[in-house]
Amino acid sequence: MATDVVTMDKIVALCKRRGIIFPSSEIYGGIGSSYDYGHYGVLLKNNVKAQWWHSLLQERDDVVALDSAIIQHPRTWEASGHVAGFTDPLIDCRFCKRRFSADKLDQSECGHKPSVHPGEAPQCDLTDSRNFNLMFETTVGPVKEDGSTVFLRPETAQGIFLNFKHYLQFARKKPPFGIAQVGKSFRNEITPGNFVFRTREFEQMELEFFVPPEDAPKWHEHWLKTRFDWYVRLGLRQDHLRLRPHEQAELAHYAVATSDVEYLFPMGWSELEGIANRGDYDLSRHAKYSGEKLDYVDTANGRRYTPFVIEPSAGADRATLAFLVDAYDEDEIDGETRVVLRLHPQIAPVKVAVLPLIKKAGQPELAREIQHSLREDMQVEYDEGGAIGRRYRRQDEIGTPWAVTVDHQSMEDHTVTIRDRDSLAQDRVQIDSLRDELRRRLAAPWHSPKLED
Ligand code: ATP
Repeated sequence: MATDVVTMDKIVALCKRRGIIFPSSEIYGGIGSSYDYGHYGVLLKNNVKAQWWHSLLQERDDVVALDSAIIQHPRTWEASGHVAGFTDPLIDCRFCKRRFSADKLDQSECGHKPSVHPGEAPQCDLTDSRNFNLMFETTVGPVKEDGSTVFLRPETAQGIFLNFKHYLQFARKKPPFGIAQVGKSFRNEITPGNFVFRTREFEQMELEFFVPPEDAPKWHEHWLKTRFDWYVRLGLRQDHLRLRPHEQAELAHYAVATSDVEYLFPMGWSELEGIANRGDYDLSRHAKYSGEKLDYVDTANGRRYTPFVIEPSAGADRATLAFLVDAYDEDEIDGETRVVLRLHPQIAPVKVAVLPLIKKAGQPELAREIQHSLREDMQVEYDEGGAIGRRYRRQDEIGTPWAVTVDHQSMEDHTVTIRDRDSLAQDRVQIDSLRDELRRRLAAPWHSPKLED
């Protein structure tokens, strides 16, 4: 494995410098662990989500889509077990007034003496551990009264179970089939951190795949492989990815089996996505709490059963962070360090930049014409400000795979150069064939040039 120059500090600095992701509410001094996505961040995360949808909705025909409400009936969270059990053990220090997750004390810094863990400095005065529910509570309607308390969903999954019956009816689906959803989830995390790895509001990309109980292990394997391969196809280095099965003691109360897709982040191997066999826990619980029948009757043989659920549950922000970390690189051009995001072209926020070499002699007009001819097919950016080297560097920093340069020769023979972000090769092509050439490059298989280091 080549030595990686990436650190989380460099990612945070680049994201801020280029307006990809930055701290929220900065004019008021910021609010801890809350981040806003700027222009390139929106494009990047949208590409991640679009690839996820594409792999489920377009590349297969056994998954359908849903966009359910964030605020659901409060009974949802009683049935799901979140009211009773979605807690983290919390410890306060009476001396430094800091708050720690009791099961992460060995990874936390003492608020008074950061070189030791909480409880290890003489002044530390820790409380006993108390359970703290991670759901955000709010009130519906103008008055806070009995029955008006609701929760912001801590996961998108439950909205899918609540709608299972609808999908049997109007989508005319039968197991094995899945329902997929992308949306915001909220958790009042005690120790958020590592940039957008753990925040209190985040986006999830969840699939609940319903199968006959006896087929659940086979489908679990299928989704482990399918989801792992998705990250690899989009360019994450395979030596930075692994599947880790949960130990029996680590399994959530509902899970028959779970494996995590983990990525080697700068802070170490960490969960990117959890892929669980949830058995029939969710449908059975909602059937019990709602009084509705949530099972499936196979009309071919009259068999009635509650499907088992395989759940690949990914985080859009965590995946975006993994793509950024995996792509970050530095090299040297003309004696200067270049920061470059070696993103898979399909994930890159901007696919091509069109740059006139100089701001006169008809070059800007031709470059604009080219930009307009490409924008139907891909995200394209026009930039005429500053020296060409600096403009290339700006595009490298946001991971733009190709830069098209219009120069004096373009005006004579109707050609342009395509500069490749990674190889730095410059190929001269006819403007007439530019669109096809870029489309060809965009569709071609890709792997990280960092693997060749
Ligand atoms: P962790 O152990 O890291 O808290 P989890 O096992 O509780 O995660 P799940 O409930 O399985 O997470 O959620 C599925 C996915 O949602 C995670 O793999 C992650 O990508 C994302 N996710 C969960 N919590 C957060 C968070 N606080 N911030 C950002 N993403 C999150």
